[in-house]
Amino acid sequence: MITVLIQFCIFFIVTFLSLFLCIEWFVEREQKKTEQLQKEEITHLKNMEIYRREFLADVSHELRTPIFAVQGFIHTLIDGAVDDLGVRDKFLNKAMKSADRLSNLVNDLLIISQIEAGEIEMKMRRFHIIDLLEEVAESLEHKLTKKGRNIAFAMDIGDNEDTIIVADRERIYQVVANLLDNAIKYGNPHGKISIISRKISSQKLQVSISDEGRGIEKEHLEQLFRRFYRVDKSRSREKGGTGLGLAICKHFIEAHGESIFVESVLAKGTTFSFTLKIGT
Ligand code: ADP
Repeated sequence: MITVLIQFCIFFIVTFLSLFLCIEWFVEREQKKTEQLQKEEITHLKNMEIYRREFLADVSHELRTPIFAVQGFIHTLIDGAVDDLGVRDKFLNKAMKSADRLSNLVNDLLIISQIEAGEIEMKMRRFHIIDLLEEVAESLEHKLTKKGRNIAFAMDIGDNEDTIIVADRERIYQVVANLLDNAIKYGNPHGKISIISRKISSQKLQVSISDEGRGIEKEHLEQLFRRFYRVDKSRSREKGGTGLGLAICKHFIEAHGESIFVESVLAKGTTFSFTLKIGT
């Protein structure tokens, strides 16, 4: 009887110890997991804070330039320049340009902050790529002719006349308009701008927009899609640029699960290309 009791006690103690060790091990593992998660969360929050500060610093810097310009022109007018008609018109036009730049900047900032907060959803639908490319080119041609500029767009769509794309039409329109606008701004004023659309596989189409401008140095190419990155700051500002166009294009194209890239040859020109999904 005593032996049975001792055996039972030993069995009980061993079981209890194993159970205790198991619980201890489990609690320790869970604690480590929680600590790891907390560490990751703290790193994420720290990164978000760094990002928020950088974004605010960039934005305040970018907003300050046109605001100071508008203030400067208005002060000069108030200080007497308003009486000289020639100077008055010149300064009012400059103030207007800076106000336009400010308005473009605020619009682009709104888009980029909505994208980065994940608030913009892609509304996928089927459409003909040729219709969209023609629509953007015609609208830009119209704007340029009104400004007295004649830019030649050369459209080459190969055998894609009937090709249907599945994408958010409005966003792709914005991407094409942005790339064409850059080709006009930074390309050769007397050169040609080509819009080429090619099937690169049974499921993918590539749209390329090329200009015959002075091109971009290799060291800038990888950075071009970062917000507020500009090769030539003063040229971009003079042309009304916000430094956000390419960052927005990249976000839109990547939100479709597609890619956008740039190739450039100095003194020859630059080509921006992006891919799209062909509808079945
Ligand atoms: P921006 O509003 O300054 O045009 P983007 O984001 O559209 O901003 O472009 C970023 C920079 O990339 C421009 O400031 C310019 O320096 C360069 N860039 C863009 N497109 C071209 C191009 N087609 N040829 C040469 N440089 C270009």
